[in-house]
Amino acid sequence: MDKKEMIRITQLNKSFGDLHVLKNIDMTVLESDVVCLIGSSGSGKSTLLRCLNFLEKKDNGSIIIEGKEVNPNTDNLNKIREKVGMVFQNFNLFPHKTVLENIIEAPVMVKGVDKKQAILKAKQLLNKVDLEDKADVYPSKLSGGQKQRVAIARALAMDPDIMLFDEPTSALDPELVGEVLTTMKDLAEEGMTMVVVTHEMGFAKEVADKIVYMHDGKIVEHGTAEEFFNHPKEERTREFLKATM
Ligand code: ADP
Ligand code: MG
Repeated sequence: MDKKEMIRITQLNKSFGDLHVLKNIDMTVLESDVVCLIGSSGSGKSTLLRCLNFLEKKDNGSIIIEGKEVNPNTDNLNKIREKVGMVFQNFNLFPHKTVLENIIEAPVMVKGVDKKQAILKAKQLLNKVDLEDKADVYPSKLSGGQKQRVAIARALAMDPDIMLFDEPTSALDPELVGEVLTTMKDLAEEGMTMVVVTHEMGFAKEVADKIVYMHDGKIVEHGTAEEFFNHPKEERTREFLKATM
């Protein structure tokens, strides 16, 4: 059976003033696939993710989420963001809320989930990211790796169908990168559909079903991890791999 299309982007363009940042992007993400988005700084990776979560507004092109084209002018974007969770480089936790309060905030306030239910679920998620003893702690007391795992739990609390990660380990001390990648790998193994912007080539090689390589606002090459790392087609890709690996 064919896998369901979770995301389909066609001919997406986005400019900031005169700067044309995304140029005719076409991309499809199938259910339970892990797509790693790689490319040098400034190539448009974050902008693409932000367009997918409607934090940025595309100029033209279409974005179809789970079979339905999204019109940012008329659709309820909060509803769509419930389906498409996002984890940022700098965690973006609420500093004045405890870990538990961070996790239940959106389910209770946005989705109207009963608070007791939300707490129960938050505790299960904390267990899943191996932080069950940190429920009542404030983010300032956590390591970067712990903060990022809380951020992942917080995104999962909304029951998303798709998770977007924008360089989730780039702000971490090297010794803390592994614990976050392990959490992400677990999530991938459970079948979560994921789009991950990352510089962690080891993770991409091991976990990605597909690699999308961007340069200067365009998709230069895409393929399976095997194709991409072992048989890159484009000269640009070979240069990138030589410089990064
Ligand atoms: P990447 O994530 O691949 O490093 P970005 O998507 O962050 O790339 O940025 C792509 C280009 O768009 C860069 O030149 C960046 O400076 C520019 N850019 C990103 N966001 C904005 C913004 N809000 N306003 C103006 N320019 C932006
Ligand atoms: Mg970026």
